[in-house]
Amino acid sequence: MSGTKIPQNSKWVGAHVSAAGGVENAPMRAKEIGANAFALFTKNQRQWVAKPLTSESIRLFKQRCENYGFTAGHILPHDSYLINLGHPEAEKLEKSRAAFIDEMERCEQLGLTLLNFHPGSHLKQITEEACLDLIAESINLAHEQVPNVVAVIENTAGQGSNLGCDFAHLAYIIERVKDKSRVGVCLDTCHLFAAGYDLSSHQACEETFAEFDRVVGMHFLKAMHINDSKTPLGSRVDRHHSLGEGHIGWACFDYISQDKRFDEMPLILETIDSERWPQEICAIREGRQN
Ligand SMILES: [Zn+2]
Ligand SMILES: [Zn+2]
Repeated sequence: MSGTKIPQNSKWVGAHVSAAGGVENAPMRAKEIGANAFALFTKNQRQWVAKPLTSESIRLFKQRCENYGFTAGHILPHDSYLINLGHPEAEKLEKSRAAFIDEMERCEQLGLTLLNFHPGSHLKQITEEACLDLIAESINLAHEQVPNVVAVIENTAGQGSNLGCDFAHLAYIIERVKDKSRVGVCLDTCHLFAAGYDLSSHQACEETFAEFDRVVGMHFLKAMHINDSKTPLGSRVDRHHSLGEGHIGWACFDYISQDKRFDEMPLILETIDSERWPQEICAIREGRQN
């Protein structure tokens, strides 16, 4: 057996897989593509109200995760796109907060510990600061209602009035969250790039992550979304592409694959061609030379 390369397996890589037919189907779909991590919606992401998870769904989800070796720290549920935790109108803010708490409860029921969400939008009705204050307060309220689940704020491309495109926004929110052990960040490479943070070379990656560490802190990084970008640097337009096919290119994905700071966290593909997921997962887990 001498000369056999021992797989390091220090990276936890997967994709946002479909939960059609029930959350219990997601682990099987992740297994099929060779993932050791995955993301999912625990309810229809375009509807406000969903039926509660059945005890059978919960049991099967947990059993399959265990059978296939998926652990809570490498599963990244994503909340509904309708939720705006910084909504300027009281009634709609209330609706969003209730829906967010429901999402957190679903995570808790499934034994999951992370919930990934987009911070929110001011809709040009309130200031950025007022909106960020509402978002932080929304997280604090959810923390009071649901134990254990970490609120994982995703950076955005800065389309429209979406906040979270600037590291300073993320730092501002985190500063106002009371329980710092239950707040973190998911950085999406496509959103970073569209928001003006360059990742197109090794040097650019060094600078962007150094900036993140300086403004927010690497210890708050809980997950990554690994996507190339159809739109150029600073475009503020969120259009994902397959790895190596967009304006970011392989330098960034090789950098993440080789850097130990991205061990132990879920690295989730949301790339546009699911046929390529097995190869993309392999390229991040084992490096492209293999
Ligand atoms: Zn997202
Ligand atoms: Zn996106």
